Amino acid sequence: MCGIYCYVGKKKAIPIILEGLASLEYRGYDSSGIAYVTDKINIIKEKGKLSNLINLIDKNTDTYLGIGHTRWATHGSPNKINAHPHQQGSITLVHNGIIENYQELKKLLTEYSFKSETDTEVLACLIDKLYQESHNIIKVLAKLSELVKGSYALGIIVNDDLNSIYAVKKGSPLIVAKSDDGTFIASDIPAILKHTDKYILLNDNEIAHLTKDNITIYNERLNILNKKTYTYNGSIEDISKQDYEHYMLKEIYEQPEVIKNTLLPFLNNKQKLPNIKKYQKIHIVACGSAYHAGLIGKYLIEKYCHIETKVEIASEYRYQNNFINKKTLVIFISQSGETADTLACVKKVKNNCDTLGIINVIDSSIAREVKDVIYTNAGLEIAVATTKAYSCQVAILSLIAYYNSKTKNIINEFDNLINDLNKVLKNDYRKIADLIKDDEKIFYIGRGIDYALALEGSLKLKEISYINSVAYQAGELKHGTISLIENNTKVIAIVTDKELKDKTISNIKETKARGAKVIYITTTSLDEEGDFYDEKIIIPDNKLFQSLLTIIPIQLIAYYVAKARNCDIDKPKNLAKSVTVE
Ligand code: GLU
Repeated sequence: MCGIYCYVGKKKAIPIILEGLASLEYRGYDSSGIAYVTDKINIIKEKGKLSNLINLIDKNTDTYLGIGHTRWATHGSPNKINAHPHQQGSITLVHNGIIENYQELKKLLTEYSFKSETDTEVLACLIDKLYQESHNIIKVLAKLSELVKGSYALGIIVNDDLNSIYAVKKGSPLIVAKSDDGTFIASDIPAILKHTDKYILLNDNEIAHLTKDNITIYNERLNILNKKTYTYNGSIEDISKQDYEHYMLKEIYEQPEVIKNTLLPFLNNKQKLPNIKKYQKIHIVACGSAYHAGLIGKYLIEKYCHIETKVEIASEYRYQNNFINKKTLVIFISQSGETADTLACVKKVKNNCDTLGIINVIDSSIAREVKDVIYTNAGLEIAVATTKAYSCQVAILSLIAYYNSKTKNIINEFDNLINDLNKVLKNDYRKIADLIKDDEKIFYIGRGIDYALALEGSLKLKEISYINSVAYQAGELKHGTISLIENNTKVIAIVTDKELKDKTISNIKETKARGAKVIYITTTSLDEEGDFYDEKIIIPDNKLFQSLLTIIPIQLIAYYVAKARNCDIDKPKNLAKSVTVE
């Protein structure tokens, strides 16, 4: 969610930290702040975009240590006072996460006067209070998880030691890294790539002590750990927009390449797909677009493998009776592998059933918790609204379904897929976007797998263009929602399944009869002339990977609508890329 970026080293700290925060902006933000050390600790914060903070700071300041934060507010509005860092007594800190028992803790900290409405400031007081008792910050941080409920990743400066930064985490992600010029703490790997491609993943309850040329990591028993250093296997190019106007557009156009990278190791038998036939039932647990990818997985697994499959939203699944046993496989899908709701579900069920993660970020928290993991090779995804990572999830789920049904000719379908993806990406969807751009509401409809795509299309449009779009099962519309169809209401209808085509066309006609303007998406083999649509998009057929082709015009329509409405496409308001709070 928020971004934490801290640096201590030989170089001037402020430009490094501001640049680091900028590269974390995609995680979501509504205010930002920095604390840096001169002969004392200085704090500057501001609401709104990071550029507001940048305008307030002298980048040439003689400082070599600082902690920075972009906030995604959970407790208290996104104003200057609530922005991090927070300072109480000897402690100045930045925080990512949520302190669930902050009200109870606050009652025990009566000697402090609170300036903000945040849960974070309570934590600053608690740490200060414990520090005043022992004057050993490592010991205090090791004890924190016994007292604090919720999640945290913290970057801390202690008044008595202005040459060090301390970090600890529980639930929220944090990495530490060392270059020739200093040491870093960051919420995510891309932020440090400019300085080094080597990093260490901090585990829950581990404490890092950073000085300008050293990192020491302790466990909660205060033993020094010898941690594995990872090397990032992508390139620094991944974090550049190249010639694209937005990361989202770049990522849409990367889909043929990343889908190929995701599928090839399995098609070449270099990696094995799981045998799912041994399970009686499958649960797929995810959030947002990953949930929509899961719905496609359900249709394909039920169709090809005849295994009962249900797809659940992680934040709901966590509190349900899950009815799982050793014959159940639970599949968790998450791009970041840090989605807090999904992670909580893994922890809940992992001892009672087999678990499989479909994850993009290697060695992320969910990847480390599940029994088996399949990595999507989508590369770094920076735009908040997912496109290529979603497609890679769909690609893997499609392959799992087909592999377990022993369907032949996967390779042929795959060759056509990559060529056809490139063809579909060449079409111009701006005319369709122009039709929609001034609307306040629109509908997506489809049946079966096309309904799952309708849901994703509708979400994409809502996320980045703020148009209130609704996805409906085409046959369900008449049971209520059709009352909202009026003259000139846009309906995007998706028909790629031959068996459901006639029924869906009847439903489209029902909307047309009530004045709807219909944009019809179908495949070459199902195409037919008719008076039931106003605009038509035809995509190539692909038996095994149809959804990957169908989603392209849907993503591009959302993109061009958002562009026509002048929206901040890569960083839509209120959203965060990796949702690390529950
Ligand atoms: N819960 C904290 C707040 O609202 C931290 C939020 C974040 O992760 O940015 O200030």
